[in-house]
Amino acid sequence: MLELRPACEACGKDLPPNAPDAMICTYECTFCEHCARNVLRNVCPNCGGNFERRPVRPRAMLAKNPASQERRDPHVDEAAHAAYFTRYSSTPPGER
Ligand SMILES: [Zn+2]
Ligand SMILES: [Zn+2]
Repeated sequence: MLELRPACEACGKDLPPNAPDAMICTYECTFCEHCARNVLRNVCPNCGGNFERRPVRPRAMLAKNPASQERRDPHVDEAAHAAYFTRYSSTPPGER
């Protein structure tokens, strides 16, 4: 089950469970679409993987399995991102 983290881990933008612009990597590192595409350019700074749109959990299911409320300070490890970007930016996600 996804945690549904509450905010972009780069800019801090709120990303509620029904946000249309929430993107996640395979480890559920969570970013807004702007940061995922234009800042990180589809390379996760924490694992080097790509991003896909986070599915919306239906409201009835949220009552049973609520979204995470655990806010972290937005932070991107620039050096780690640069290293992953160098390694993977020209490699399609399926071949990373
Ligand atoms: Zn963002
Ligand atoms: Zn990641």
